[in-house]
Amino acid sequence: MHNHPQICLYCCEVNSVRKHGLAASGSQRYYCMSCKKTYQVKYIYQANEINIQRQITALSDEGKSNIEISRLLGVSLRVVDRIINQMALMDSLNSET
Ligand SMILES: [Zn+2]
Repeated sequence: MHNHPQICLYCCEVNSVRKHGLAASGSQRYYCMSCKKTYQVKYIYQANEINIQRQITALSDEGKSNIEISRLLGVSLRVVDRIINQMALMDSLNSET
């Protein structure tokens, strides 16, 4: 998987993040132009899972396909499918009550 998440760890901006060289460990570093913070990609995966779920839900509500969402957010299609299915299940449970 060669995609990178483009969501800011700190302010959750999607389009403000760009690559910022490599850390000493070799990890890709990112810089957010909105909040002026830098961080490494391995931290984003852990801390941003809930944010990614939120972004997937929002894009799905906009009518984006799972493949489009996968490309936009840089997460695997399997993750998108799983989260979409979870959301659909929760929606159906909510509408029954
Ligand atoms: Zn930011």
